[in-house]
Amino acid sequence: MTVLPARRLLLVHAHPDDESINNGVTMAKYAAEGAHVTLVTCTLGEEGEVIPADLAHLAADRDDSLGTHRIGELAAAMEALGVQDHRFLGGPGRYRDSGMMGAPQNDRSDCFWQAGLDEAASHLVAVIREIRPQVVVAYDADGGYGHPDHIQAHRVAMRAVELAAEPVYRRDLGDPHDVAKVYWNCVPRSVVEEGFARLRAAGREAPFPGVATAGDVPGVVDDAEVSAVIDGSAYADAKAAAMRAHATQIAVDGPFFALSNDLGQPLLVREHYRLVKGEPAAEREDDLFAGVTA
Ligand SMILES: [Zn+2]
Repeated sequence: MTVLPARRLLLVHAHPDDESINNGVTMAKYAAEGAHVTLVTCTLGEEGEVIPADLAHLAADRDDSLGTHRIGELAAAMEALGVQDHRFLGGPGRYRDSGMMGAPQNDRSDCFWQAGLDEAASHLVAVIREIRPQVVVAYDADGGYGHPDHIQAHRVAMRAVELAAEPVYRRDLGDPHDVAKVYWNCVPRSVVEEGFARLRAAGREAPFPGVATAGDVPGVVDDAEVSAVIDGSAYADAKAAAMRAHATQIAVDGPFFALSNDLGQPLLVREHYRLVKGEPAAEREDDLFAGVTA
């Protein structure tokens, strides 16, 4: 049996790029500190819009080869963050990217939105029982902003945590494991407002033609709901490099970035979490493993 590092962190995301935007400094920090960091991405992001004009042909309505391309982008991002263990749920291409809510792609039988919950969760149970993470990071019930794949990734993560601990469930997938702490990604309102104030203050210097609003940022919550903050200032460059590696999806410029809508957003180097399973070790934790004993 392989011997794993003492601290093990599992993150579950919908598309390649979500992990770098949401958890880039957290992943880089724990990887640098010797923790085992595992990323499970649920789809290849085949339906994403493509920013660079010379790669526009990859899009789903043209060559439909964006998924394969994004496997390479994700690998480069993981290299930038120092994360070696990254996998796709059920293997690459098992679940296809869904579109925004109501989009016709969501009727495709192979899209993640149509996946059976327990079937999809079983693939994650196998990972949880193999890695035995003390900490799992996932989205909230709304997936942060209502994208069907993010909502589904939330459901799959929460269901898998439950099933992985269930002694009679699928012993062929490994011995039961009870995850000590589960966190949901979030961004406190004050941090978003401060970030946008910085962007507006940049005025004409601002790198993008428009400015997004706090409403464009997934997972914004009242400050009081935040349980943990990871100060990743030391890993800001790694996060920016990881985001840059997702070149079809993200344009990074200094402390700002934009998605395909070309609206500027602050690149956040402090990442925030809401604890939803397990006991908080402090009123505002600064370590996701705080209080974890085994
Ligand atoms: Zn996404």
